[in-house]
Amino acid sequence: MKSIEIEKMADLPGKRIKDNDTFSFQCHSDLSCFNLCCRNLNLFLYPYDVIRLKNCLNISSDKFIDEYVDILLKPSGHCPEVLLKMREDAEKTCPFLSESGCMVYHDRPDTCRTFPVEQGIILDQKKNRAIPVHFFRPPDFCLGQHENKTWTTKTWAQDQDALLYNKMTAKWAEIKSLFQADPWGSEGNKGPKAKMAFMAAYNIDMFRNFLFNSSFFKRYKVNNKIKKKIKKDDKELMKLGFEWIKFYIWGIKTKSIRPRPPA
Ligand code: SF4
Ligand code: SF4
Repeated sequence: MKSIEIEKMADLPGKRIKDNDTFSFQCHSDLSCFNLCCRNLNLFLYPYDVIRLKNCLNISSDKFIDEYVDILLKPSGHCPEVLLKMREDAEKTCPFLSESGCMVYHDRPDTCRTFPVEQGIILDQKKNRAIPVHFFRPPDFCLGQHENKTWTTKTWAQDQDALLYNKMTAKWAEIKSLFQADPWGSEGNKGPKAKMAFMAAYNIDMFRNFLFNSSFFKRYKVNNKIKKKIKKDDKELMKLGFEWIKFYIWGIKTKSIRPRPPA
């Protein structure tokens, strides 16, 4: 999901689909392109994708990041991009693709669910809110675009069980938009602050371990209900992690986490 500048929207590839617009699409295993779209792709993973995939595979977020992720940090970039590590075969196949299809279908990433629609956000700075925008962008080889079934972006998201994913990804996109300026200062983008932010966003099991096995709760007050939930609920922990990043990096106040007065 990208943050889009309003002025540049007309230059983006694909057809913009507004709320009531429809597009034709149907994907099924009888099409000769079946599974072609799971090869040769840059598959960006967002924090909620990692939670769902590591739980589906029954491994820790640390192990998932170690085994399944490529982290890209451009020298001048401020926020790393997380991509699914593809197999080292000629077609750079997705590691979750089998002959019968996607092995993690129930927990497939947001991008796979939303495909061939791409979601971006426009940030309305004045009203401090993110507005989703959608583009219909099937590659030429995708034959599903010639089928007759029609959708709106909402009915498509419902059909693909993508509504929660889209919401979680939009929350992350809001945070990513804060990275337009360098927040790291002299520490650089590999310093302790950057490592903390990455852990809170992507390495959710390690973040939980940090919260409950350090002096964190002595230094910060967290609402008791939330504290109870985050012991087991990864999604709630991720949402708290987003609040923590905003507070820790930019000092943005949050009701969820409050510094305790010095003893
Ligand atoms: S290329 Fe398009 S129609 Fe073919 S399998 Fe992928 S999404 Fe479905
Ligand atoms: S996660 Fe599943 S749907 Fe997505 S690219 Fe891999 S095999 Fe295809």
